[in-house]
Amino acid sequence: MVTMKSPVTSLAGIGPKKAEMFAKIGVHTVGELLRRFPRAYQNRGDIRTLAEAGMTGDYCAMMLTVGTRPSTALLKNRMTLTKFSAFDDTGKCEVVFFNQNYIKDAFALGATYRFWGKLIYQKNKWSLTAPQFEPFTGARPLPDYVPVYPLGGGIGQKMMRATVGIALASLDEVQDVIPEVIRKKYNLLSLQDALYTVHSPMNPERLAEAKRYFVFEELFLFALSVARSQKECTGEKGILLTLSDADMNAFLSALPFTLTDAQSRVLSEIRKDLASGFAMHRLVSGDVGSGKTVIAAAAAYIAVKSGYQAAMMAPTEILARQHYNDLAPLFSSLGIRVGLLVGNMTPAKKRKVHEDAARGELDFVIGTHALLTESMQFRAPALMITDEQHRFGVKQRAALAEKGENLHVLVMSATPIPRTLALVLYGDLDISTINQLPPKRQKVSTFLVDESYRARLNGFIKKQADEGRQVYIVCPAIEDTADDEDEGGQLVTMGGEVIDKKPLRRAVEYAKELSLAMPTVSVGCLHGKMPAQEKDRVMAAFEEGRISVLVSTTVIEVGVNIPNATLMVIENADRFGLSQLHQLRGRVGRGAYKSWCILVSDSENEDSLRRMRALCETNDGYRIAEFDLAQRGPGDFFASEESNRQSGEFKFRVASLCDDTELLSSAFAEATRVISQDPELLAEENKPLKEACDAFAFAGKNTLS
Ligand code: ADP
Ligand code: MG
Repeated sequence: MVTMKSPVTSLAGIGPKKAEMFAKIGVHTVGELLRRFPRAYQNRGDIRTLAEAGMTGDYCAMMLTVGTRPSTALLKNRMTLTKFSAFDDTGKCEVVFFNQNYIKDAFALGATYRFWGKLIYQKNKWSLTAPQFEPFTGARPLPDYVPVYPLGGGIGQKMMRATVGIALASLDEVQDVIPEVIRKKYNLLSLQDALYTVHSPMNPERLAEAKRYFVFEELFLFALSVARSQKECTGEKGILLTLSDADMNAFLSALPFTLTDAQSRVLSEIRKDLASGFAMHRLVSGDVGSGKTVIAAAAAYIAVKSGYQAAMMAPTEILARQHYNDLAPLFSSLGIRVGLLVGNMTPAKKRKVHEDAARGELDFVIGTHALLTESMQFRAPALMITDEQHRFGVKQRAALAEKGENLHVLVMSATPIPRTLALVLYGDLDISTINQLPPKRQKVSTFLVDESYRARLNGFIKKQADEGRQVYIVCPAIEDTADDEDEGGQLVTMGGEVIDKKPLRRAVEYAKELSLAMPTVSVGCLHGKMPAQEKDRVMAAFEEGRISVLVSTTVIEVGVNIPNATLMVIENADRFGLSQLHQLRGRVGRGAYKSWCILVSDSENEDSLRRMRALCETNDGYRIAEFDLAQRGPGDFFASEESNRQSGEFKFRVASLCDDTELLSSAFAEATRVISQDPELLAEENKPLKEACDAFAFAGKNTLS
């Protein structure tokens, strides 16, 4: 019996050798294989006649009948050639295969096949060389869409498709994750149906149903983890942290600026929480550049001045270091000892931080996930801060709060989440909003340009650098990876979007290109696959102005603050979500200089264009977020795997495809109901749910270290 938990070797044709290849891409069980969704679909439902196919000159699907018996001949160069003729109502062509003798037995005279290939005219006839084909019997329609998988481990598209096909055919029974009542209520497919459909969709409508199932499943599991951790931490008593106005003013007057009204309001909300006797659970939401860091610092100051310790966790080393560099001088002038803890430090240095914090010789520790390890303990912890909290998993946020008893929790988010969505996502948190930017902030002028603008753009980049300013260039990809096979034709994603096959700018190559084109300008490159030390070195060089133009991937998306940077160029801008574009733009316009954001895109897709134009029209993150919610649905607020891969945070696989706010609310409502009835998920009918939920929470946690 083959189940989701069976090893892939239980499938016919998968021996130890192939199993090893699958292991390389993290696939050990049938379930892991089937949960590796296609990255796109080839549309073979759009059948062309031979007459049409000849005119398109591109790959397409044709329904042809075999007209002559296949014959094989040996060529001079020792290759073999198998050919036969095939026809439809509009004409005939020759179908040719090289070195595939066995193929002649695959075709029966008079039978019809769906071919996929490129029809070309040569030597006075139309021919189709080495096409893909599927027999068409008429008894069962062929699926419109053929899956295109993400590859790796030396596995080709054909082998991937075949193995998934075998797995689907041999799968006995699939246990559902979502309880049946809930599935019925929301008209969701069973897991088994959803799996069949996602790998072999008969048509776009069915695919949309499968997508809806997986989106719901993921949101539901996410909501369950939120609900479970929420239960653990509401209404508990908290450490009393009070601070006199005089002491608070000592902090405020050490700042090089005065707080905005919004910052003052949020700070007083936090002070009230800390002095309430209950544990604080507060989210500070504020647009990029609204000044959240200083509010976090003020909260830490209150904790330390009350005799306790505080910690702040950031999603990337770059950001943690930057917070440390910004805050350490301020705090040391106030007699507060600040430490830094990131993965990329020598064991000796880490140990020193661990020891100092445990002995109470550090008051405030700033770091990355490294803060979550067992060896990081505090003598008298009171406040745990998470910056850019949407980059962390629920479990990670909870793990930080578990560094002590009844800790106060402050989380910061620069993603301007519309209020409706925030209530669903952060039901367990009180929300403060910094709805005002510091004075004299310049609007970042934003323009959308296409390739024809390239030369002028390069001139503009050089001009900024020559004037002593700095430039970010963000690319959607790192470097050319040859592990994908392009079989031609139009590709559609699970969300129904047609994939733009315009070539992507790749950070590594583009950086080389630019430094050749501008020999007098110092160009650097930064991406997530670089070793941490190298990343730090590049980032430090950029901060110190030794690099003028930084070509990077989205690693610089969150938090980085370089006031001298005045130009943000985003290549293939249509590839990014609106909120993400806004975050990236937030990296410039942070100093006294006029700043620009240039979106480069050749896309003709209406939705993409609307998105990019919206960004050109406004700098207001909340308006952009509302627009995004209306246009793209809530999914855009769940960072997708694609944009997460680089910094190794929490991964959503499909929730980023969610285009339906109601579905999101339903998933949360049901999760809350399930948890209120069975908090530990111990009921027999919730067993599969508990298993899935634990696995889900773990997925958010396995990036520790
Ligand atoms: P974010 O909310 O995106 O985290 P930061 O905390 O990084 O924003 O602040 C952005 C910049 O604004 C920093 O250089 C910070 O020093 C500055 N800043 C913060 N508050 C004020 C203020 N009230 N007046 C002037 N500048 C401020
Ligand atoms: Mg910030």
